[in-house]
Amino acid sequence: MDKIGKRFEGKVAIVTASTQGIGFGIAERLGLEGASVVVSSRKQKNVDEAVEKLKARGIEALGVVCHVSNAQQRKNLIDKTIQKFGKIDVIVSNAAANPSVDAILETKESVLDKLWDINVKTSILLLQDAAPHLKKGSSVIFISSVSAYQPPASMAMYGVTKTALLGLTKALATEMAPYTRVNCVAPGFVPTKFAAYITQNDAVRKDIEERTMLNRLGTTEDMAAATAFLASEDASYITGETLVVAGGMPSRL
Ligand code: NAP
Repeated sequence: MDKIGKRFEGKVAIVTASTQGIGFGIAERLGLEGASVVVSSRKQKNVDEAVEKLKARGIEALGVVCHVSNAQQRKNLIDKTIQKFGKIDVIVSNAAANPSVDAILETKESVLDKLWDINVKTSILLLQDAAPHLKKGSSVIFISSVSAYQPPASMAMYGVTKTALLGLTKALATEMAPYTRVNCVAPGFVPTKFAAYITQNDAVRKDIEERTMLNRLGTTEDMAAATAFLASEDASYITGETLVVAGGMPSRL
């Protein structure tokens, strides 16, 4: 982290689901590179703690409670950002749910609805609210998953919603060009609360490590570095792309 630059000075970045894990890592990275960051999640306590941690690192941070499925809270997230910072340069859509390990044909309709709602639909609805405030040269990043390419049996429908984000990236990149670039990061396995099963069992952890070429799990910093690159001017000729950050796990050609 000592060698990072200042690519986001004067920029305003919103990261959803960002009070811990990959979202927090992204907010921290963008903030350390000079961005004013807006962090959010469902619980006020988590939001307050995340803001304190960011401020302790010298980052200008605003915290807003936002359950991404709540239309009023989504609107409030955008309104509070504009009231405080006046514009939006970067949006990272990071929230996801994985409520079931059932096979797709066994998955209840309510669970299908929740997966679609949180993993795909709310990303679109948030962008509808944000679009009027996006600046020229702005950047949208979706957080998908390496499981988008070959949805594993244990999280098949989750994987399919992540596949949808790859298509959404292409479609919105066309729709929002040339004013706004739209890209996507597909993380491999990162031991967060969301993926606690990775570290709960040594055999599972070892198996996942061995499925990577680099023989290790990913870190939130790995995901943050890739996201910051795509959101930055360094990627100013890249749009509609997905960057797989999975230590060489099988994804696509
Ligand atoms: P995490 O560490 O469990 O963090 C989840 C964050 O999201 C928390 O800040 C949580 O705070 C917030 N959150 C949960 N539900 C929310 C909702 N409905 N609305 C708003 N905020 C919500 O998760 P993570 O592993 O970093 O996952 C982040 C993203 O990476 C997800 O899109 C996931 O699919 C993707 N991903 C993760 C992995 C992995 O191995 N970890 C791999 C591939 C892709 P509150 O509890 O306060 O809401």
